[in-house]
Amino acid sequence: MAKISAPKCKICRREKEKLFLRGKRCETVRCAVERRAYPPGQHGTKRKRPRLTDYGLHLREKQKLKRMYGVTERQFKRYFHKAQIQTGNTGENMLVLLETRLDNVLYHVGWATSRSQARQFISHGHIMINNKKVTIPSFNVKAGDIITPNKHETSQKLLTTWREFAKKDLIPSWLRRKDDIQQTDVIQLPKREDITIPVNEQLVVEFASR
Ligand code: SF4
Repeated sequence: MAKISAPKCKICRREKEKLFLRGKRCETVRCAVERRAYPPGQHGTKRKRPRLTDYGLHLREKQKLKRMYGVTERQFKRYFHKAQIQTGNTGENMLVLLETRLDNVLYHVGWATSRSQARQFISHGHIMINNKKVTIPSFNVKAGDIITPNKHETSQKLLTTWREFAKKDLIPSWLRRKDDIQQTDVIQLPKREDITIPVNEQLVVEFASR
């Protein structure tokens, strides 16, 4: 599994936006974007901020999308090509492909506090889809899929933690939690309006099509 090793808070500070990469910490006053609202690095405070060029604007949008979902450049290119060959709007297709990744679904339903934690749960074999163990975080769920914790004792113990995580979370309308969060159903694929990440997908598509 590809791993992004850059310090997460530095990524947010570079994008000058909260990307919610570190779970609960992101909602506290310890968030680095709130405490140090300037780019990372020795000269971060002194660095002048020139207006972004057109290229820079497109590049930053693409980087933000990649970083929010935790995908590498190679994975991003694969999503883009897959979205291009599907019918419909390429930007929307790409967002749907990213949004239906299993790690993102677990994050949305509150089984993990961040997408990276969700990736760990999946690769450690704690998740089943339609009663089959899935260990691939990039697995794309489809309408009708049923997601449950593995029946193994260690995975079942995690349910207590997940119940705690999931207490206050509102989940997207295309997903449904059932049986005291022991099951998540994928009701339908998400539409553009269901995807709330602050990214202009058109800019991303224009960048990737260069
Ligand atoms: Fe980003 Fe979260 Fe770090 Fe804040 S705490 S800078 S939102 S990763």
